[in-house]
Amino acid sequence: MRTVAVLGGGPAGAFAAAGLAKAGLKAVLFDEKLAWEKPCGGGLTYKAYHQYPFLIENDWPKKLVRQTVLGAPRAGEATMHLAHPLVIYSRKELNGMLLERAEQAGAAIEKTRVLQIERREKGWRLRTRDGVAEADFCIIAMGARNPLREVGTEWSAADTMSALGYYVPAARERIDIQFLPKLEGYIWVFPRCGHLSVGICGKGEPAQALRARLEAYMEERRIGRRDAVFFSHMLPSLELSGWRNNRVAGEGWLAVGDAAGLVDPITGEGIYYAMRSGDLASQVVVNDAHGLMEKAAAYRALLAREFSQDLEFAAALAKRVFLGRFLHRTVPQRMVEFIRRSQRFRDLMQDLFAGTQPYLTLRSRLLRNLGGTLQEAILSFFLDRVIPESPGA
Ligand SMILES: Cc1cc2nc3c(=O)[nH]c(=O)nc-3n(C[C@H](O)[C@H](O)[C@H](O)COP(=O)(O)OP(=O)(O)OC[C@H]3O[C@@H](n4cnc5c(N)ncnc54)[C@H](O)[C@@H]3O)c2cc1C
Repeated sequence: MRTVAVLGGGPAGAFAAAGLAKAGLKAVLFDEKLAWEKPCGGGLTYKAYHQYPFLIENDWPKKLVRQTVLGAPRAGEATMHLAHPLVIYSRKELNGMLLERAEQAGAAIEKTRVLQIERREKGWRLRTRDGVAEADFCIIAMGARNPLREVGTEWSAADTMSALGYYVPAARERIDIQFLPKLEGYIWVFPRCGHLSVGICGKGEPAQALRARLEAYMEERRIGRRDAVFFSHMLPSLELSGWRNNRVAGEGWLAVGDAAGLVDPITGEGIYYAMRSGDLASQVVVNDAHGLMEKAAAYRALLAREFSQDLEFAAALAKRVFLGRFLHRTVPQRMVEFIRRSQRFRDLMQDLFAGTQPYLTLRSRLLRNLGGTLQEAILSFFLDRVIPESPGA
């Protein structure tokens, strides 16, 4: 293996290129925009900066937020203090930092649009807006709108979620998460350095309807739209069938981040999975013990071991979490009530926010820790309705 082309320079591609270059391979990263304000909340969980401490230990502008307020219709709000803050970046800064890290590791960075890739007897021929390049191996990191049909995940409309919102010139110190009636999704307000990211994500509803819901919320909460910048994008949000057929690797290529559908179908968190999959892909590529097809299998196995099984299980929970009902109330209403009333439930939600509580062991953890009060008996009954037993439990 001489040259590895990394197509896309978001968190997934930048991590992959850094890993390859550090191991001594020639890594060439192609991105049409490089550091840009990709539509995103920009929130990084504890899981991300615990694994990669440089994400918090650096001088790049970022906001550390320790308070979250969750709201649901007719259930009011519940406040949680986060033991581990959420770290929020503007995406231009985050991408800039990750690309600089890849370059310092020795990766070559080219600002150009990738138009086409073609499999040759040995390796790949890439056509970009500025010419032609050859590579022995490709890492596909072109995000949710990956234009290459032959590589990366193949999703249907049901496997995606719309996400849109505004960057609002305002300041605050807390995160707001608001559930909405009959929506598989939520509104977020994330404070960043110098502005707020106020957005909505939702599945199965047209973007126009989501925008109307968000604007109504902003008016009600007096979050002005004057001088605000609108953004919209889409997120992979794979259904169970999407996970089972997910095309993440093939002969001579591995897909990482959104291009491989690696996003939490409940929270929409994707940055950690993008970085981690980029890192894992680079480890597989540099490992000489694997042949080309073995690399695809080794990468799939690593993803499953680390997180893709958990995300697949989350896909089975998503509809129940947002649209389910329990004792005449919606699940989000009950969640807000339980956060207000039960320390154990607050602890659990804290860990979900930190990214340290896998979905696969959510139910068994709570059942193990219940103390036997009436309230906890109701909580246990609630769990039975919302979280089925995970495979192998
Ligand atoms: C509105 C919104 C809010 C979100 N909020 C959060 C959040 O708060 N926390 C979180 O963890 N996740 C969040 N996500 C998800 C997160 O943004 C993605 O999971 C993450 O950016 C995936 O990283 P990536 O590197 O795979 O793809 P991307 O970040 O999309 O990077 C892909 C790169 O490929 C480049 N590219 C694409 N096509 C070409 C081409 N033809 N030629 C050259 N370059 C190309 C693009 O320029 C881009 O830089 C959010 C997503 C959305 C849409």
